[in-house]
Amino acid sequence: MQILALFLFAVFIAFLAYNLKKKKIVEPVAFTNGYRAVLADNVVYYNQLPDADKVKFENRMQQFLSQVKITGVGTAVTLEDRVFVAASAIIPIFAFSNWQYNNLHEVLLYPESFNQEFNTGNEQAKPVLGMVGNGALQQVMILSQPSLREGFTNKTHKENTGIHEFVHLIDKTDGDVDGMPENLLDKQYLMPWLDLMNKSIKEILAGESDINPYGATNKAEFLAVVAEYFFERPDLLQAKHPELYLLLEQVFKQDPAKAMAK
Ligand SMILES: [Zn+2]
Repeated sequence: MQILALFLFAVFIAFLAYNLKKKKIVEPVAFTNGYRAVLADNVVYYNQLPDADKVKFENRMQQFLSQVKITGVGTAVTLEDRVFVAASAIIPIFAFSNWQYNNLHEVLLYPESFNQEFNTGNEQAKPVLGMVGNGALQQVMILSQPSLREGFTNKTHKENTGIHEFVHLIDKTDGDVDGMPENLLDKQYLMPWLDLMNKSIKEILAGESDINPYGATNKAEFLAVVAEYFFERPDLLQAKHPELYLLLEQVFKQDPAKAMAK
C-alpha cells in the first residue's frame, strides 16, 4: 500500500510538473494513410473487419484521438503508439456505437514498466504495466510503452496491456472496478458471470488453467485478463473455455472467433 502511495505521489508530481510546463490542448486529428498502414501491419482485429467496419473503426479511433491526449513521460510518442492506444480503446467497445470515454482525458506513456521507474527498494514488487488513475490522477491512464507495443506486435500471445487497461476503465464506469461490467452486461447474465469468475479463479489458483495467473489477483483483474485473451486469441479461448467465451460474447457483444475464422 505504501509503495502504491509513493508511486501515485511520484506520478502526481511528474504530472503536475508537466502540466505547468505545457498547457493541455487536444488537437483534432485527421486520419492519415500512415495510421491506416500501422493498423494494417499490426492490428489483427482491424484486418479481419469487413471494409465498411474498417471505416467505422478508423472514425471511432479518430474521434478518440481528438478527445484524449497521449503524452510521453521521458519518451517520445510515435505514430504507432497513438494507433495502438486508440485501437486498444475502441476494440472492446466497438459494438457500442455511442460509447464515449468520458472518464478519460489523458494517457501517459512510460518508457519502462513502473517498478523500474519508481523503485522503492522492495524487491518483491512486480512490474506494473499499466494502471487507471484514482484520486489526483482521475481521468488519467498510465501505460508502459514497451508493453503497449508488445501487445500488438506479438501475434501469438494472449496479452494486450492496452486492452487490459481500457477494460478496467469500462468496468469503472458503473462506479466500481470489480469485474462486473454492469453497463455492458444484461442483468440476467450478472450472476452467471460472477459464478464463472469464481470458478475460473479457483482453477487458476489450483494451477489448472492456461489463463494468465495475474487474473487470479481479484475479479477486476480477472475480467481485464480474460478480455485480453478474448480479443487476442479468441479461437483458443473458445476451444479451451467455451463457457467463458460465451459470456464474454454477452459482455462485449462481439464474436471475434467467428470474425477471425472468415
Ligand atoms: Zn489490471
